[in-house]
Amino acid sequence: MTFSALAIYFKKLEGTPSRNTMTEILAQLFRQASKDEIGKICYLLQGRVVPLYEALEFGVADKFMIRAIAQAYGVEAPRVMKEFKKTGDLGIAAENCYHVSKHYNKQHVLSIYNSLYDLAKESGIGSQEKKITLLAELLQSVDALSARYIALIPLDKLRLGFSDMTMLDSLSWMLSGDKSHREELERAYNVRPDIGYIASAVKEHGISGLSHVKARVGAPILAALCQRIPTADEMIKKMCRRPDQSVGGRASSTEASGGEVAVEPKYDGVRCQIHFKHGEVKTFSRNLENTTAMFPELTEIAKELKANEVILDSEAIGVDPRTQKFIPFQETMTRKRKHNIEATRTSVPLKFYVFDILYKDGKDLLSEPLSARRKILEHTVRPGKILMLSPQIITSSAVELRQYHDEQLKIGLEGAVVKKWDSPYEPGRRNFSWVKFKEEEGKTGKLTDTIDAVIMGYSRGEGKRSGFGIGMFLVGVRKKDTFVTLTKIGTGVSDELWKDFHGQLEKIKAAKQPKEYVGVNKLFTPDVWVSPEIVVEIAGDDLTKSSTHGAGIAVRFPRLVRIRTDKSPGEVTTVKEIQSMFANQKQSHS
Ligand code: ATP
Repeated sequence: MTFSALAIYFKKLEGTPSRNTMTEILAQLFRQASKDEIGKICYLLQGRVVPLYEALEFGVADKFMIRAIAQAYGVEAPRVMKEFKKTGDLGIAAENCYHVSKHYNKQHVLSIYNSLYDLAKESGIGSQEKKITLLAELLQSVDALSARYIALIPLDKLRLGFSDMTMLDSLSWMLSGDKSHREELERAYNVRPDIGYIASAVKEHGISGLSHVKARVGAPILAALCQRIPTADEMIKKMCRRPDQSVGGRASSTEASGGEVAVEPKYDGVRCQIHFKHGEVKTFSRNLENTTAMFPELTEIAKELKANEVILDSEAIGVDPRTQKFIPFQETMTRKRKHNIEATRTSVPLKFYVFDILYKDGKDLLSEPLSARRKILEHTVRPGKILMLSPQIITSSAVELRQYHDEQLKIGLEGAVVKKWDSPYEPGRRNFSWVKFKEEEGKTGKLTDTIDAVIMGYSRGEGKRSGFGIGMFLVGVRKKDTFVTLTKIGTGVSDELWKDFHGQLEKIKAAKQPKEYVGVNKLFTPDVWVSPEIVVEIAGDDLTKSSTHGAGIAVRFPRLVRIRTDKSPGEVTTVKEIQSMFANQKQSHS
């Protein structure tokens, strides 16, 4: 397949707002691609050359791309700049400055992929100049439309407006002309969130190709997440239900029998999936980012493990060396600032509270019940200076559950996590296998949980804030593959943070309203739209019905709690979740 043919697909996808149409276009593309091409095409559709969890970035800034376009088409940089200013899109600027060159030739999609891969790999002294030359050559070798997309990919600005989930639907369409394989595909994707790998497997072997998809050390598994259930009684009712036994009483054994839950402290730290293989360690965050560089202490865990290869699920949390008390999330995250890692290693020593084991010495443990996984975990981890086993109780009593939860709050933790004792490891937020227990609904009459929302745009400030270039931002929640508005936020943000925000949002400024933002009321149109990339956690007094916000519900007195660098836009709170929070709130008020 030629890259020009792929560029035509890019253009069609960019121009369609309908998810169903996008699914069909993608399915058509997948059918046309060969088994060697499909995986790489999937990465290119994501604007990448490797799966999302591999930290290979292009590192090409606008100013370098402007030079590359100028060099490729023999025009002056100010001319490119002028075109860029017209639309705010360097891809269109490349297309408008395009001149056919003697180097033009019908490039195969794999050859463009290889050149882009080499470009991303280029590093070290003089690499910027080399990248400009490589890009200029690449731009000369293609037609105008291809040039548009080739310019956008290394800038990390190719936004075709669909998620990996749409690609999974399309793979199902490719196989059977409907979405009937979506669930199986998603199950495989949860174990190996590498859309290129999954696509190649089913292109080559059909749906049976998924049987090859197993957990593997080095490739992150999508993290299991918590659902919300408002009260301890309802948790027990929903999670301990057994067809053959009524609920009640404390369980006497820790064997898998169903009808029980494991209850653990909820640490306010950072999720950390630890991959260990013969002494080598890699870690991944909950949004699948490779975070290995953040945790140098893990290089020493071999002596705390009885395994050659293992994947552990844990929460990393700082512990004050003087008081032995936990240090909250924000401070733990100071380690994130790369240059501070060594310094904070002594001032904020980390412990990793391990609560699950997903793989050990060649055996994928995902479908084992939690009770069995816990046993294996206890035989694998030897708690020492770095690794700790998360404590837990096993119960089926609401009284005991509430008591344990209250104890956690008293010692300054966030609450408890409640897990079905007989459930397999279920990536994502599914089936009420894990539930978070922060504060019982109705206790304070306030919103008992925070909301994660994506920043959709911002408006310039007034008065003092006008100096920051931003005074308010608009946030939204998820509705399938789209985002709808929930609230505007102007409080809870320090001067320092406003400035920082402005810098971050400038980088992801969108030329027009992104097509994933649907039904935005004119009242909320921001001065500047941004692509859906930054996730913020917000708190509020309570939820109210709204006829103007797309979510149908708005937040009263919203304020910013923190930026969630560990969450991706696909993980923000959904409209469904907000509706259920609203229903619970109404119930507790009545
Ligand atoms: P929140 O915003 O409420 O802190 P969250 O939105 O980050 O939580 P949830 O799915 O609501 O994510 O809660 C699960 C998170 O809780 C996990 O991602 C993990 O980081 C953290 N956690 C803390 N302690 C535990 C534990 N014992 N077991 C599992 N997860 C835990």
